[in-house]
Amino acid sequence: MSKVYFKNDRLKYGFLWMLILVGASWLALTFVSDWLAIILIIFAGLSLYTGIWGKNDDSKSSSGMACPKCKIFHSHQNLNIDKNSEVYAYGEDCFRTRESDGLNIYSFLCFRCNKVTEYASDPFNQSGHAVGGLEYFDSKKITKKDYKNAYDYAKKNNHLLALNKLKKIKI
Ligand SMILES: [Zn+2]
Repeated sequence: MSKVYFKNDRLKYGFLWMLILVGASWLALTFVSDWLAIILIIFAGLSLYTGIWGKNDDSKSSSGMACPKCKIFHSHQNLNIDKNSEVYAYGEDCFRTRESDGLNIYSFLCFRCNKVTEYASDPFNQSGHAVGGLEYFDSKKITKKDYKNAYDYAKKNNHLLALNKLKKIKI
């Protein structure tokens, strides 16, 4: 998973490198030469470009799921019943469908940060932002409604570990 970034990470690093390179360019302009400053400014622009419009190469990463904030990956196998899993995918019954293209968007809960993240299946990285075969969307703090959806799903499927972890969450 080493070279794959979540979309937000790529943006963050893109901006960071842009700032570093702009700083270096200013130093080069002051102390070294104009042409070095120009080269550095070009690289600064490329960093920003990659941050905003770049795509992940997701072809080599193993498929699985992780909270974009906590980044603890778990394969899809036993995801919801393994005690080492930090995420719980409960959206089988309560997904939403994006109007523009009919994409089904599901939700999972991270037990580590108590955030709910939306995701969609993207095994061939058509979005360009896939990580481990999934495209991730926004994360938000768990609401009562999310909690109920997760709890009902765990109860229905007899996911006892998840139920115990859910009971510890205070909203
Ligand atoms: Zn998390």
